[in-house]
Amino acid sequence: MEESTADKPLDFIRSIISEDRTNGKNEGRVHTRFPPEPNGYLHLGHAKSICLNFGVAEEFGGLCNLRLDDTNPAAEKTEYAEAIMADVRWLGFDWEERLHHASDYFDQLFDWAVRLIENGKAFVCDLNFEEMRELRGTLTEPGKPSPFRDRPVEENLDLFQKMKAGEFPEGSKTLRAKIDMASPNLNLRDPVIYRILHKEHPKTGTQWKIYPSYDFAHGQSDSIEGITHSLCTLEFEHHRPLYDWFCENLGIHHPQQIEFARLNLNYTVMSKRKMLRLVTEGHVNGWDDPRMPTLSGMRRRGYTPQAIRAFCDRVGLAKRENVIEMELLEYCLRDDLNRRAERRLGVLNPLKVTLQNYPEDQTEELDAINNPEDPDAGTRKIHFSREILIDRNDFMEDPPKKYFRMAPGREVRLKYAYYVTCKEVIRDESGEISELICSYDPESRGGGTADGRKVKGTIQWVDARTALPCSANLYDRLFSCPNPEENEDGKDFTDFINSGSLEVVTTARVEPSVSAFEPGQPFQLERVGYFCIDTNAVAEAGLVLNRSVALRDSWSKKTQGK
Ligand code: ATP
Ligand code: MG
Repeated sequence: MEESTADKPLDFIRSIISEDRTNGKNEGRVHTRFPPEPNGYLHLGHAKSICLNFGVAEEFGGLCNLRLDDTNPAAEKTEYAEAIMADVRWLGFDWEERLHHASDYFDQLFDWAVRLIENGKAFVCDLNFEEMRELRGTLTEPGKPSPFRDRPVEENLDLFQKMKAGEFPEGSKTLRAKIDMASPNLNLRDPVIYRILHKEHPKTGTQWKIYPSYDFAHGQSDSIEGITHSLCTLEFEHHRPLYDWFCENLGIHHPQQIEFARLNLNYTVMSKRKMLRLVTEGHVNGWDDPRMPTLSGMRRRGYTPQAIRAFCDRVGLAKRENVIEMELLEYCLRDDLNRRAERRLGVLNPLKVTLQNYPEDQTEELDAINNPEDPDAGTRKIHFSREILIDRNDFMEDPPKKYFRMAPGREVRLKYAYYVTCKEVIRDESGEISELICSYDPESRGGGTADGRKVKGTIQWVDARTALPCSANLYDRLFSCPNPEENEDGKDFTDFINSGSLEVVTTARVEPSVSAFEPGQPFQLERVGYFCIDTNAVAEAGLVLNRSVALRDSWSKKTQGK
């Protein structure tokens, strides 16, 4: 498999795990998890985490759980949870029977909170979030203790039970761990571990009026599931001491948290919060808009799981933040599709060509190769007749010297068909070219001639009578600057949306066999790009194609300018 890492040196996480196994840590077991919060759709960054967690488990003969980190009913939805599962499966990973929810552990987490209270390690605090922030201190100044810090254990237990019973309004009280208000690590300054939230939870309904914080739920969930290596992104580095504190102070199985750098990609945003804004403010047409960096958007655009996995593999693992270029992602897609996608003929901007010496009532079928990279893909028949369509881009009336496509008096090869020569240019009343009159060489069937004469240009075409009309969505980058998230003051990332990120071409024509592809299955329109039939198009819209990626990287030329 192309994802194989057998011939590469181990990255820092695999080195740690390999060493742990050598030392018999966790009895040599490896158990990881992918823990998304169901508050949005998964994006390419999540794919990296999925590939890492499931990949590591597979390579070391271990297991990987899928855990929905559903501790915040204010932002979470079943729709998201279902989409997450579909995306992980689509990427090719299987959690078997190990689907868990942080909410499965709410009873246990509550009992552990009670244990902390009993041990004098947690207290109920009446400060609101604003007051708490004021006492919290800064990176250079220690914090001040809450006036409620020394509440007696009995009172804390009583209040915590009442919080649970729903006796207090939201925001009026919290449960906080009693750690160290002078710690240089702000996360250790008596962090909130439970908050009051009178919200219905997708899994537990109205049963709970209080919900654990991320920090209080995450490590303990890892612990309950017997996770050995808890792999997370760098922003959790400063949470690790808290992760460790809870495991130690509760005396429970202690997984090792290891941080790696998030995947960042230029010309896009990679955060559910920002993606949610793109959706709700209508900058894109939903989470699965093919311009989105979501897995559902990429799938709809024609990205394959193999291309995404190859990309994650190439990006590798870093300990420091970095930004990956979009070109690498597109390279991985082209590389995969070049090998696997079948070829078809199509034109986006048709120009009629009449072959004056081709008999009017004649039609024939020619052989076309489905995929030159894959002999097993075989051949197909394509229709040919007196009237064909070529792309307007492939004709120039007054061409420069190095132009090898069609021009008056020039001979070109029609792919899989004949040599043709342009004899005459016809214009409509407005002066626009409406048709070319050409002659064809009957001796050149299939693309060669008896006299061995060569032509420099080969262009694609479709048979005018049988070609299917369709519309094609051509996508460009969603943002016009490399880093829309960090820019001049006062600018919002949405100010940098590329207004030309979607071009809809309604004039396209493709050979009829295109309609036999499954929606979402990528194919190449020769010389045009990789496409797939849109999975969401409504029947009335007819045949709608989404362009996955152009055949060549035209962007770098465009931006480098002159
Ligand atoms: P976002 O900022 O997009 O909301 P998140 O980290 O809040 O992302 P979670 O649902 O909590 O989203 O993420 C699930 C897992 O995926 C976490 O372990 C997280 O570290 C990892 N992850 C999220 N974004 C990235 C990324 N860009 N690169 C690598 N891993 C990521
Ligand atoms: Mg998160």
